[in-house]
Amino acid sequence: MRDNDSSDRDPRNVRHDRGGFFLRPLGRTHFACIRDCFHAIRRKASPKVAKSVYRTHCMGTLSVSLVVIVAVIVVATATNARIAAEEDNPPRPSHDDPAVKRPAEQRKDESVQQRNKEMVLGKATVQSALIDRSRREILAGAQATAAASGKSVRQYSYCVSAKGEVGGAGVQQQFENVVFRTLNDARGWPRAGATFTYSADSGQCDFVVYLAQPSLMTSFSDNCSDKYSCRVGNDVIINEARWNGATERMLQAGMSLDRYRSMVINHEVGHRLGHLDNEHVCPGPQALAPLMQEQSIDLHGCAPNEWPTDSELWID
Ligand SMILES: [Zn+2]
Repeated sequence: MRDNDSSDRDPRNVRHDRGGFFLRPLGRTHFACIRDCFHAIRRKASPKVAKSVYRTHCMGTLSVSLVVIVAVIVVATATNARIAAEEDNPPRPSHDDPAVKRPAEQRKDESVQQRNKEMVLGKATVQSALIDRSRREILAGAQATAAASGKSVRQYSYCVSAKGEVGGAGVQQQFENVVFRTLNDARGWPRAGATFTYSADSGQCDFVVYLAQPSLMTSFSDNCSDKYSCRVGNDVIINEARWNGATERMLQAGMSLDRYRSMVINHEVGHRLGHLDNEHVCPGPQALAPLMQEQSIDLHGCAPNEWPTDSELWID
């Protein structure tokens, strides 16, 4: 016992009793603590000495180690969360207008918080950028629907553009997101065998979807109106006033702005696929209106509808 007491006062151990280990490199202090504890146990130190060794060596080292471990866990967790957020909401891919990219990146933090949700900006609903993974999943769903439709499968490439003053990059981003989601929705034209991919190359598009300033609608064709949307050849032109305000008739009939947007995209793209206005009429009171019926002008007693009905599932 006396030998143990004297060896525990060995200068190699005593130097740790002064608390200086806090100032030494953590690794050396930690190993010194372990070594001293083992030495004390191996030499069968008295409970008093063992307690002293524990208090003077291990308590401090253990406390420092715990603080370091907790700090590492906190930093690692925060880093993982940041990386996950960046993966879920990367900067926008290339777009027709390079100016679109920078503002979208500036709104990245806000978009992360609103991922897969929507936020209201005035009357318009602004959706966060669709990440590549979401695009792949949406397109895969559309392709599965098209393959199961029993129709001949066709893949269309479309571009998105703006005509006139129709809002900033955020509005264009939202517009492009809604176009992609709507065209590839399993309730939509994929049931007729069609799928749609976005292209930034204007030379590779089967058609272009415009968001157009109302006063410029007639620049596409005299047959277009500044009140409604239009399709001219391979140009599908969505009237910005309708995009942001739908029509009173449709809103009063219970169709939300989001549903109206899907309706107007599907209707105008339906023209591009070969459909004509009012090729089918309202089948009866409160039945779903045919998609190609000019619902904004008159519902004829039908309920508003944004998806092609069974009788409209064909492509010219
Ligand atoms: Zn039409």
